[in-house]
Amino acid sequence: MRAPPDNNIWPEPLRSFAHIKLFLTSLCTVLALFVAAIFVLLYWRNDDLIRLRMHEQAVTYHDLIMHTKNWNFDYGGVYVLKRSKVESNVYLRRLGINPDVTAMNGSTFTMRNHAIMINEISRMSEMKEGAKFRITSLHPIDPENAPDPFEKQALEKFERRMGEFSRIEYPLGKPPIFRYLTPLMADKSCLECHKTQGYKVGSIVGAVSIALPVEGILREAQISKVLLIIAAVMTLGMLIGISYFLTWRLVKKLDSVQRRYTTLISTDELTRLRNRRYVMRRLEEECERADRMENPLSLLLIDVDHFKLVNDTFGHPFGDQVLRRASARMKEGLRRYDILGRIGGEEFLIISPGATVEDAMALAERIRSQIAAMKVIEGDRECSITVSIGVTSMNALEMTPDLLMRKADVALYQAKEQGRDRVIYG
Ligand code: GH3
Ligand code: MG
Ligand code: MG
Repeated sequence: MRAPPDNNIWPEPLRSFAHIKLFLTSLCTVLALFVAAIFVLLYWRNDDLIRLRMHEQAVTYHDLIMHTKNWNFDYGGVYVLKRSKVESNVYLRRLGINPDVTAMNGSTFTMRNHAIMINEISRMSEMKEGAKFRITSLHPIDPENAPDPFEKQALEKFERRMGEFSRIEYPLGKPPIFRYLTPLMADKSCLECHKTQGYKVGSIVGAVSIALPVEGILREAQISKVLLIIAAVMTLGMLIGISYFLTWRLVKKLDSVQRRYTTLISTDELTRLRNRRYVMRRLEEECERADRMENPLSLLLIDVDHFKLVNDTFGHPFGDQVLRRASARMKEGLRRYDILGRIGGEEFLIISPGATVEDAMALAERIRSQIAAMKVIEGDRECSITVSIGVTSMNALEMTPDLLMRKADVALYQAKEQGRDRVIYG
């Protein structure tokens, strides 16, 4: 009868749950990290693809140059008609090769070896597409083919090991360029001109150096990156928004289910008053609060007199109706902060925080007289009931809910003993 209430069944309000906030924060962090990881990957991949595109373009140029060079080699150089503005290759003459020949019809032809041919094609390409290429060497015959610092660095590396060399350069005030160098190895045909420089077959004679304008590609890459960042921010915002919205909806639903559950487990089905479980829990809380605040607290233990007789005379359903009516009547006389509950078959408890002995006695007397004046009529059946009330108040010595209940019980017993339909303070 006086068992301590089971607090575990009383859930806290869901919306204030710290762990829901923690769950949402964790979820959003995981989503943010996940989306960020995907987009950082795409960002890097974008850079890789752009570099790959530049590299492929440079390789295409390189292959074309090599084919052109080999074509020239295979013919041992080609002769072109020496029109006005067409200069002879002075470096060939220095090597003891006369670059000019005169045809029988009197026209003069001059030799274009691979190096000068590539330089001339490069000049044309530079004017049209901005792409430059040339053959450069650490020991050039033509000083124009001397390497710039980047080419020199690449050539020195080529002397140590084979491979290719590339990088994007951002010259001050000029558009960015992609530079690509591959080593050029000496074969027998090279040695015809380069044997004085001490080269052997297989040694590195120089490099094919290619410079491509990449302003357009880099601009495209920049746009892709900006779009990627916008997409990442939007995706993240959307995911976080959706998760937040769905979680919040779920929490609200759970909250309302929980409210229903709390109401259900704290309500008496017959009278719709608070049930024993709820009232006993509140008694503990109110005792603790009254003790802490040093406020008065009173209890009213109410029992319907001879209720068994009501049941026996009018039947159980009528008895139920009497209990419902009596409950409603008790409720009417209460203050807002009084707690009324049905704690047994025809037994009720009122916890009255702040009520002194006098207040509690007045309240009990009011309830007793109102119930006594009440008539329950159903068809041709009419019934009146009375109640006995045991009143007790909290003082410094009696602080526990158990003691209070016991005192109220004793007072109620005395009321019954003294003839019922009365209020006794104990
Ligand atoms: P007393 O004045 O000494 O309290 O006498 P009493 O008859 O009221 O006390 P008793 O404990 O002998 O009987 C209580 C009765 O209340 C017995 C039980 O059938 C009845 N009762 C308990 N719960 C309900 C209920 O929910 N509905 C109805 N109709 N009767 C109930
Ligand atoms: Mg009774
Ligand atoms: Mg009883």
